[in-house]
Amino acid sequence: MQVFKFGGASVKDADAVKNVAAILKKQANQSTIVVISAMGKTTNKLEQLVNAYFYKEGDIPTILNELKIFHLSILNQLIPTKNHTIYDDIENVFVELLWAIEEETSGSYNYHYDQLVSQGEVLATKIVSAYLNEIDIKNKWLDVRGFIQTDNSYREGKVDYELSQYLVKTELLPIFNSHNIIITQGFIGGTSENFTTTLGREGSDYTAALLAFFTDAKQVIIWKDVPGVLNADPKYFKNAKKIDELNYHDAIELTYYGASVIHPKTIKPLQNKNIPLFVKSFINPQEPGTVIKDSEQRSNATSYIFKVDQILLSIQPKDFSFIAEENLSNIFTIFSKYNVHVNMMQNSAISFSVCTDYDEHKIEPLLIDLQVEFKVLYNKNVELMTVRNYDQDIITNLTENKLVIIEQRSRNTLQMVMKEEKD
Ligand code: ASP
Ligand code: MG
Repeated sequence: MQVFKFGGASVKDADAVKNVAAILKKQANQSTIVVISAMGKTTNKLEQLVNAYFYKEGDIPTILNELKIFHLSILNQLIPTKNHTIYDDIENVFVELLWAIEEETSGSYNYHYDQLVSQGEVLATKIVSAYLNEIDIKNKWLDVRGFIQTDNSYREGKVDYELSQYLVKTELLPIFNSHNIIITQGFIGGTSENFTTTLGREGSDYTAALLAFFTDAKQVIIWKDVPGVLNADPKYFKNAKKIDELNYHDAIELTYYGASVIHPKTIKPLQNKNIPLFVKSFINPQEPGTVIKDSEQRSNATSYIFKVDQILLSIQPKDFSFIAEENLSNIFTIFSKYNVHVNMMQNSAISFSVCTDYDEHKIEPLLIDLQVEFKVLYNKNVELMTVRNYDQDIITNLTENKLVIIEQRSRNTLQMVMKEEKD
C-alpha cells in the first residue's frame, strides 16, 4: 500500500491532469490511494464565494460562473463526449452549491465555509477519476468524508482516530480486493451528523498522512511543482536549494515555523508508524526528491522561512499587573477562541508580544475581545523571518534595509519580526 498526494498545482489544467495520469500509469504498481486537492486556485475562489454569501462581499453569480467555466473547460478537454455521466455529476455539485447559498445564513461562518469550500475537492476528484477510468486507469472514486471522521470544529476538524481507523479497516481496505487505485479528496472530513468539515488550509497533505497511518502504508509520496523540500521559498530566495534528506524532527520544526512545503500536521502520523514521506516533482517524477524518515542525523543546512502580511500585537494588562500565568492563560484562551495561530511570541514584565498572520476576519474581532482587559498596540504589515542554522553573515544580509522590531534566538533558530525601513 502507498499513498500519493497531488496538490492544486498538479491538477490546475487539462495537461496537468494528463501528467498525473502518466505518473499513475508508471508508479501505481501496487495498491495506491490517491489524494487530490482542489484544482488550481479553486479553494481561494470558493473562499470568495463564502464571503459573498456570508458577508455580502462580492457577486455570487459571477464567482459561481467562473468556477463552473473553469472546471467545465478542463473537463471538456479531458472528456469531449458530452453525454458522459460525469457532466451530470459536475452539474449536480453546482446545483448543490447554489441551493446551499440560496438559503439564509444560519450558524457560524466556519460551518458555512466548510460546507461550501469542500466542494473544490469533490469537483477535482470527480473529474480526475472519470478521466482516468476513461483512459483505462481503472479506479474507484471515494468520498473521504465517510472515513476521515472529525468533531465539529469547523475549519479545523479534529480527527477521531479510533473511528476513522475502524472505518478504513472495515470499509476502505476491502475495496482493494477489486481495485488497484482509489481516488479521494484531501482536506475534508465528515462529522457524526454527516456535516462536512475541513482540516485547515493546505490540509491535503495531512489527509494523505492519516490514510497512510490507517492503512499501514509503506510510503507516502507528495507530488509537487518543486524538486523536493527546498531550504527557502523560491518566491523570495533566488538560490533556494533542495534538501535531500530530513528526519521527522527537522521536518516538524520546518513546518512548525511556517515552511509551506508540507502541512504541519502531516509528520506526526507518519512518524508514529515510521512511514517514510517522499516529496517529489511531478514535472520530473524520476528524480529522487526529498525523503523524510526516521534517522538520528539532524540537518545542519541553513533554511529560511519567510512570512509576509503579519501583524505584531503588543498586549499589556490595563491595571499594570505583570504578564504572568493568569494573564497568559486569558490571552491564549482568546486566541484559541478565534482560531488565531501564534507564529512567534515574546514576553517582558508588563507586555506580551505576539506575531500572527493578518486575517482581517479573525484579527479584528480578536482585537475587540482582547481590548476588554488589555491595552493592545499593533503593527500591521510586518514580516516574520525564521532561520534555522543561522550565522552572523546571514543575519547581516537578511536585515539590510530592514528595521528589526523583535528578535529571538535559540541555539539553532533565529526569528525576527521586521519592517521595510523607510528612507
Ligand atoms: N485545497 C485546499 C487548499 O488549497 C487543501 C490543499 O490544497 O491541501 O487549502
Ligand atoms: Mg492547495
